[in-house]
Amino acid sequence: MVDVEIRELMQPFVLSDYQVQEVYRRFCNETAKGLRRSTHDQASTKCFPTYVQDLPTGDEMGKYLALDLGGTNFRVLLVTLKGHHDATVESQIYPVPKDLMTGPGVQLFDHIAECLAKFVAKHDMDKAYLPLGFTFSFPCVQLGLKEAMLTRWTKGFSCPGVEGQDVGQMLHDAIQRRGDAEIAVVALLNDTTGTLMSCAHRNPECRVGVIVGTGCNACYVEQVENVELLDPNFKRSRSQVIVNVEWGAFGENGQLDFVRTDYDREVDRKSINRSEQLFEKMTAGMYLGELVRLVLLRALERNKIFKLCPKRAAFVAVLQNNVDIFETKHISEIEEDSFPEFTSTRRIVKELFGLDKASVEDCQKLKYICECVARRAATLVAIGISGLINKIPDRKVVVGMDGSVYRLHPKFDSYIREMMQKLVKPDKEFDIMLSEDGSGRGAALVAAVASKST
Ligand code: BGC
Ligand code: MG
Repeated sequence: MVDVEIRELMQPFVLSDYQVQEVYRRFCNETAKGLRRSTHDQASTKCFPTYVQDLPTGDEMGKYLALDLGGTNFRVLLVTLKGHHDATVESQIYPVPKDLMTGPGVQLFDHIAECLAKFVAKHDMDKAYLPLGFTFSFPCVQLGLKEAMLTRWTKGFSCPGVEGQDVGQMLHDAIQRRGDAEIAVVALLNDTTGTLMSCAHRNPECRVGVIVGTGCNACYVEQVENVELLDPNFKRSRSQVIVNVEWGAFGENGQLDFVRTDYDREVDRKSINRSEQLFEKMTAGMYLGELVRLVLLRALERNKIFKLCPKRAAFVAVLQNNVDIFETKHISEIEEDSFPEFTSTRRIVKELFGLDKASVEDCQKLKYICECVARRAATLVAIGISGLINKIPDRKVVVGMDGSVYRLHPKFDSYIREMMQKLVKPDKEFDIMLSEDGSGRGAALVAAVASKST
């Protein structure tokens, strides 16, 4: 049992049944507003139509290039779809230098085109015609499958000259400027769409795609008659379309103020996108570690943790002076630890803060802090997923999931399921499946399905 002082400190992170129900109700309202033409502008969750209307059948064939931009890394992939629900993926990771994340947009796209050219040359494909699916994991208004206008940067990106522009066109232009490869950008998609597609490729009951990684978002399959923003010409052919919820922005109209804590407000104040992506700032990997740092700092200042530690002053100084020193991966490692060894916890406090012999009690407290922050994130994600599942007509719904938080955290999946048991309507059945390379395989599938339907 963790001591009562730390429990008290963490109380604001523990959502009551009432708060859960209320966030659920507000979330459902907000997504309904996002879908409707008359209320779309006021809605924080934009529910953008993606123009992806066909889920894969599993028979898709061919070689496709894919690009994945949206988190800490950038990837180029070569995906070979082999029919029979099968695919192979070869890929190369390139770090995105910090200055490119905030420098002029044209430079970012030139860098992407350069990596792409190197990749195709290495695979001896620089002479071949290659269709490319671009997984661009930021909020976009789509005007068609390959036209996507960035509405705002998120997750630490802020390159000028891209918001309001067609990012498919910007990539195309950058490829043309080099002129050394024959690559056609045939589809632009969000990573949640890629996740849904890659999971539907293996399991036809998949209707929802979720990312809990650097950022946080979901998409789902909606009936076209409910998607008022969809161009009427697209409505004719198919009954369904994938909707990109962009739930990371939920809360921007104040709907989450009744559950946000001082720590959440502090994270927001220090961010480069103030007052934006408030749900994301409570759920995504870019922010969870920072929330723990702020709580830990408060706990130290109030003498509720590491009370007998001789180097307290130095410890506080390190915490105070190093924003982001505590990372979300540390939460995963600490929650993996077991009593009384706390091997990772002790290593982490030693590495980050220079503390030699953390006591069992202090390790327990730190673990509890991490658990509360992660559990609240999972609860909020579960609220969103349940809201989507409950409006999908199918009795059984499979959810495709991906992202570093979901993958690396030892209990995130069980936290989510536990909350979903309470929120998904009793006449429904759900399951969660891990996506296998959604951004690559998913992009290839969208590209493949796109060429099939034209
Ligand atoms: C973006 C979404 C994306 C999510 C996960 C958010 O910041 O707005 O488009 O799906 O991150 O990568
Ligand atoms: Mg990603």
